[in-house]
Amino acid sequence: MDSPRPAVERTSILIIDDDPGAIQILRKALPEYPDVRFATNGDDGLRMARDMAPDLILLDAEMPGLDGFEALRILKSDEVLADIPVIFVTGHQSMPLEILALELGAADFLSKPVHPGLVRARVRSQVRIKQLADQLREMAARDGLTSLGNRRALDERLRREWRRCLRSSMPLSALLLDVDHFKLFNDNCGHLAGDDALRRVGAALAAAFQRPGDFVARYGGEEFMVVAPETDQAGAIEMAEQTLRLVRELAIQHPAAPGKLLTVSIGVSTFVPPSGVPDSSLVAHTEYLVGSADKALYQAKSGGRNRVAWLPCEPPMPASQGALASATG
Ligand code: GH3
Ligand code: MG
Ligand code: MG
Ligand code: MG
Repeated sequence: MDSPRPAVERTSILIIDDDPGAIQILRKALPEYPDVRFATNGDDGLRMARDMAPDLILLDAEMPGLDGFEALRILKSDEVLADIPVIFVTGHQSMPLEILALELGAADFLSKPVHPGLVRARVRSQVRIKQLADQLREMAARDGLTSLGNRRALDERLRREWRRCLRSSMPLSALLLDVDHFKLFNDNCGHLAGDDALRRVGAALAAAFQRPGDFVARYGGEEFMVVAPETDQAGAIEMAEQTLRLVRELAIQHPAAPGKLLTVSIGVSTFVPPSGVPDSSLVAHTEYLVGSADKALYQAKSGGRNRVAWLPCEPPMPASQGALASATG
């Protein structure tokens, strides 16, 4: 999960202004921020904003081509960029323009000629607000017990990765992990030991899935889910098998389990999002992917637990879902 960036040294600022002289003045007013970058037109500015995901944007209102108002509209309608605060910089003081920019989502205002002290104060306060908002977002996306992603973050990530794989025609895999005989574990070892076991299983899962796009979440109770974009079925099964090994290596004693060790079962599903799918059916498709992992998990459980199972890899939402391909023990 993306981490918040608390320190000034890690705060990045993007200045978008067609006047190099104005950029110089703004830059000079912000000596404590080492990462300040510039763009001299709206299109380059938007491109840079996507690349660097700055903590703050100083945006000139009047620019040839894409002007500040249009750039602001685009920023605020972009899922990824919308949370970046924008300080709007206008050529002159005009209340109607200020109102319009605030309505479009600008966080604050500066009028030219800018006063360095005012620039510094406004920037500092917006950076502070952004950091607090980042921390809140981060906390709201984490599971309290395991520090992994929580269910809300998982749903969001599933949709995002589905869209990404749809664009790239790459497979998307989902893995659902359930701890075996966990009720008995709690009954025998106590709930505190149960909590500790969940933390360790979650950490083992996170250790197995370390690619930048991988997302590991606590699905609920003693169930975890991994979203693995650009991962085909064979790759996902291999990772699931590796997770099984890592959990066995934890060697958590489970007196009531058949092998006296705590084990997990994993269901795997993989799809290549088909082209031409409207965004409106996205939720149905991601639910289908999760449902398939759940069915595979059920097969792993009924096949004897401590194993990986998967469904045949087909386009999503087929009329025939096919039977379980195989399971390993
Ligand atoms: P199966 O092998 O079929 O999955 O059996 P199970 O006992 O793991 O499944 P069941 O659904 O019967 O029990 C799940 C248990 O997980 C019961 C519940 O108390 C426990 N559990 C869920 N969340 C937590 C938690 O946060 N901490 C602890 N200690 N236990 C939890
Ligand atoms: Mg200008
Ligand atoms: Mg369960
Ligand atoms: Mg269980």
